[in-house]
Amino acid sequence: MLFKLIGRLPSVTEPARALASRAVPLVAFVSTLVCAADLRAQEPDWDSIEIRTIQVAEGLYMLMGRGGNIGLSVGEDGAFLVDDQYAPLTDKILAAIAAVTSEPVKFVLNTHWHGDHTGGNENLGQAGAMIVAHDNVRRRMNPEQVRDLVGRSDQAPADALPVVTFSDEITFHWNDERLHTFHVAHAHTDGDAIIWFANANAVHMGDTFFRGRYPFVDVESGGAIQGVIAAGCTSDVLLFSSPLTETVANTLSR
Ligand SMILES: [Zn+2]
Repeated sequence: MLFKLIGRLPSVTEPARALASRAVPLVAFVSTLVCAADLRAQEPDWDSIEIRTIQVAEGLYMLMGRGGNIGLSVGEDGAFLVDDQYAPLTDKILAAIAAVTSEPVKFVLNTHWHGDHTGGNENLGQAGAMIVAHDNVRRRMNPEQVRDLVGRSDQAPADALPVVTFSDEITFHWNDERLHTFHVAHAHTDGDAIIWFANANAVHMGDTFFRGRYPFVDVESGGAIQGVIAAGCTSDVLLFSSPLTETVANTLSR
């Protein structure tokens, strides 16, 4: 889903303070699926799934297929993805990217470790993308941290693992954009990241925000409802949205 929101973000970070003071419309990427439920479901008919591309701002798009919506920044520096859905969709995702840029994917930033956000990591890592995520994303993708709840029963391939990890925040200066990425502790999981595209004034919230359904908190992966609320993913966002809130795209990805 894609909203324009009047809202605020977690209070301890630089973008949050900036956003709170600016009180300008935001565009939020939000997930349309509950990861665990999706992964427990029957194998999807991958051939029938189409990738839909929605422009958010100049050089910024949202890709909708199955699973968490993908953020795509394009420009002279190369394509930058926020999440990459499932491995069987990689070719379709790459085709959708190629429709808006001729540059290769240079970065993949995972908002958390669930398979509908990291499933394309191996393919894109092998193709040369640098994979970045919170420290706990890499830790959760190791065999010792496997949780049956989200259906991952074996070790993530080496090429799927993030090669750059961060603890609190990291900023990318890319495609004339500033992608301020900050961790929100113990929310949907213990490795969630929210990405603020400063110039576009858009925010990718990963699974810390579900529209139209009750939030999913993966307690086995370190999630906590208090963290979800603190991340501004449910009541806070809805509370601070206003009559200006509108649905830019309103299509389920399955
Ligand atoms: Zn998730």
